Amino acid sequence: MKETRSTCPYCGVGCGVVIESDGDRITGVRGDPRHPANFGRLCTKGSTLHLTATAPVTRHARLLQPMRREHRGGRPQPVTWDQALGFASDTFARIIGEHGPDAVGFYVSGQLLTEDYYVFNKLAKGLVGTNNIDSNSRLCMSSAVAAYQLALGADAPPACYDDVDQADCIFIAGSNTAWAHPVLFRRIEDARTANPRLKIVCCDPRRTETAAAADLHLALLPGTDVMLFNGMLHVMLWEGWVRQDFIAAHTTGFDELKAQVRDCTPDVVAQVCGISKEDLLTAARLFATSAATLSLYCQGLNQSTSGTAKNAALINLHLASGQIGKPGAGPFSLTGQPNAMGGREVGGMASLLSAHRNLANAEHRAEVAALWGLPGVPDRPGKTAVEMFQAAADGEIKALWIACTNPAQSMPGQATVRRALERAELVVVQEAFATTATCDRADLLLPATTWGEKTGTVTNSERRISRVRPAVPAPGQARHDWAVAVDFARRLEARLRPGRPTLFPYDADAGCAGAESIWNEHRASTRGRDLDITGMSYALIESAPQQWPMPAAASAGTARLYQDGRFATGDGRARFVAVAWQPVAEPREARYPFSLTTGRLRDQWHGMSRSGTVGRLFGHVPEPAVEMHPQDLARRGLREGDLVHVTSRRGSIVLPVQASDEVAPSQAFLAMHWGPEFLGGQSGAGQPLAGVNALTTAAFCPQSKQPELKHAAVKILKAELP
Ligand code: SF4
Repeated sequence: MKETRSTCPYCGVGCGVVIESDGDRITGVRGDPRHPANFGRLCTKGSTLHLTATAPVTRHARLLQPMRREHRGGRPQPVTWDQALGFASDTFARIIGEHGPDAVGFYVSGQLLTEDYYVFNKLAKGLVGTNNIDSNSRLCMSSAVAAYQLALGADAPPACYDDVDQADCIFIAGSNTAWAHPVLFRRIEDARTANPRLKIVCCDPRRTETAAAADLHLALLPGTDVMLFNGMLHVMLWEGWVRQDFIAAHTTGFDELKAQVRDCTPDVVAQVCGISKEDLLTAARLFATSAATLSLYCQGLNQSTSGTAKNAALINLHLASGQIGKPGAGPFSLTGQPNAMGGREVGGMASLLSAHRNLANAEHRAEVAALWGLPGVPDRPGKTAVEMFQAAADGEIKALWIACTNPAQSMPGQATVRRALERAELVVVQEAFATTATCDRADLLLPATTWGEKTGTVTNSERRISRVRPAVPAPGQARHDWAVAVDFARRLEARLRPGRPTLFPYDADAGCAGAESIWNEHRASTRGRDLDITGMSYALIESAPQQWPMPAAASAGTARLYQDGRFATGDGRARFVAVAWQPVAEPREARYPFSLTTGRLRDQWHGMSRSGTVGRLFGHVPEPAVEMHPQDLARRGLREGDLVHVTSRRGSIVLPVQASDEVAPSQAFLAMHWGPEFLGGQSGAGQPLAGVNALTTAAFCPQSKQPELKHAAVKILKAELP
């Protein structure tokens, strides 16, 4: 029996786990009592992780060797790694030669480790010369990133989990923390027991488990968050609750913001948001006058056409009330995926460069080029997630490399994604499980290692970097994601830069040592940056995971940012961002009279390729259902369990209806996880569509390019049985 310390691969809480294994078999998992993210606790998903490694591979077969489809719709046939990567590099080189570097794109994932991300980013921007690399983190955190950069000068959550214990007000917005970040929610419950002064405010259109546990639930109408936050600031100004001394010493732009919120009176807010004036006043008072206010927020703010504005309006409240840079206070975005933050650290998105450098900044491009030993990196904006699949559907991108994610299920605009996968000349999918909808459309399937086998690092919501370590060897011919990328990159650079020293001097067969050499290159690139981690090493974070920044001279990482009142902007002052409320992209109307919101279940993860292998995880919610208010059911002559068509402007799915007073009248809720094996569907063009995202819109926030997965206008009609 062997024990290996590693990290949970599900959510951004980033809990430490101890994996028990016997030879090449994982036999158990338990929480790591020494890990500061969870101190031994695990939620239901985390505590059943070992079962995902041992579940009978019936529906969810592991991919164990490279496979190639000779033609679309055909059965994939086994090939060697040499054949697979030879074919891929030949095709990429040809397409780049004929159409230029922007004719290829890489779509990666917040499930990848930082080392995987680093190599993919260097492959795209350094070797190929395209910024067409984006991540499913675009669907998750990019609005939080954009607002942090605008307001505070850097993509750096200022607070930490310890602040939960020190807050007197926890303001939760657009997050069902109890289900999406369960171990953190247990900590909130403990804090409430320890601190009788602690008040919890929750802003959410639904009465989720989190909202039900709050002292005050603001059940605002979907998409009205900016009006609510601006209205709270209006009240704070009126009541004299703003911190003029903090504003004068540490910020800019307050006069413009004051003008912006002048008309956001309680009457207007009550009407637009659908909440009472009394609740608005209480929320503003608790936020501004508590000794320390910590806000926790997630996809309810991020997945919106106003995502950046929502985030910025909430940060404005922290700056105006001085609730930042001190214990128990600050705006704290909760990361959805286990390594969305690590991906941003290495610049693995279309708009970023390594170590939080910006693609649009010529100095930053020159710095990265120098680090990589190149004359330059491209300045052309890359395609973000939605744009990348649109470009492939339009024939502009001709080869797609997809790693560790399932866009054929998880992306909005499903018809476009399907067209992109059909039209691209080459679709390469690098995956652990061969069962995703995207695998069905791949020309080349490359087997990757998964949790329990991988080696590298991840960064959680509080900027803490932890090691992910292998407990068992890779099964079959599966390889680490970074090793696949390195092998492919070397073959491609032999075609694109023959005779030149390699840009990828890492040993693809060296396991942990290979990953560590990539990490060390990334580490060196952070020197002097806001996320400087030159003081960390694999050895250090293996024994004690650390929070960035941790420069070379530091003896430990940094728990809390901006405690000296200096922000990461050029002049050290935080910037108020004056934003106006905008309605959702697709307001409900007579033909589509319901607001459909989507969200997570407690015991499932993303498209279920992993959590769906564990029968026990279906005990909480066994099957898909659309939740509606009992009044709406009665008005439509529906009874619980009836089958209904849920139809948006993009598609339609059939599923049972469930009565729920957690959703307000004229709203409906559907969990995001259910894919094609659970939900069929048809678009107007008769194409098969994949689950919930047959309905969602690809409209996105103009700043963050994050799509509005949280809201679509739908109609719900009883399905006639044949
Ligand atoms: Fe894993 Fe998140 Fe649960 Fe922790 S809270 S065990 S990281 S799923």
